[in-house]
Amino acid sequence: MLNIGCHLSASEGYVAMAKQAVEIGANTFQFFTRNPRGFKAKDIDEQDVKEFLEIIKKNKFVKILAHAPYTLNPCSADKRVRDLAKEIFIDDLKRMEYTPGNMYNFHPGSHVGQGIDTGIKIISETLNEVLKKEQTTTVLLETMSGKGSEIGSKFEELKQIIDSVELKDKVGVCLDTCHIYDGGYDIVNNLDAVI
Ligand SMILES: [Zn+2]
Repeated sequence: MLNIGCHLSASEGYVAMAKQAVEIGANTFQFFTRNPRGFKAKDIDEQDVKEFLEIIKKNKFVKILAHAPYTLNPCSADKRVRDLAKEIFIDDLKRMEYTPGNMYNFHPGSHVGQGIDTGIKIISETLNEVLKKEQTTTVLLETMSGKGSEIGSKFEELKQIIDSVELKDKVGVCLDTCHIYDGGYDIVNNLDAVI
């Protein structure tokens, strides 16, 4: 069976997203955990979450995908930005446990002149600080197009990050087909070569 869904607005809460997904025949969806261009998050409404879990169970949803804000940059050159990224990460992973067993996707970040190797090292270190043995969420590194100093436009970079993560069973990769094509992997005309 094909698992399919789209991005939905989280502004009306979990139940609203589940209902919208059911309405369009989806069995999964993606949403932002907080303002994608800022950091503000709504308080978790436990009743809303409870009803949501019932709806997705009844409708046999597969894993849902939460997306971190775009402004999160775990490998920024600015310590305040890195610290904020960690804080958001920890808070989002705590929030994710209200809907256990799902996935949290983030953009690995931009090294902003520090170099790819340094960026990769900082991202792995951040993951080692925020990932917890008891979490049920899988954290996904998204493939990027490589704009500016973005890390993650080469599969090797993502592998390098994951190789340095201690809790490997807590991490995975989100393959953004638009990004990898833009990043130079010609999956349109030459998928075999990319694979
Ligand atoms: Zn993304």
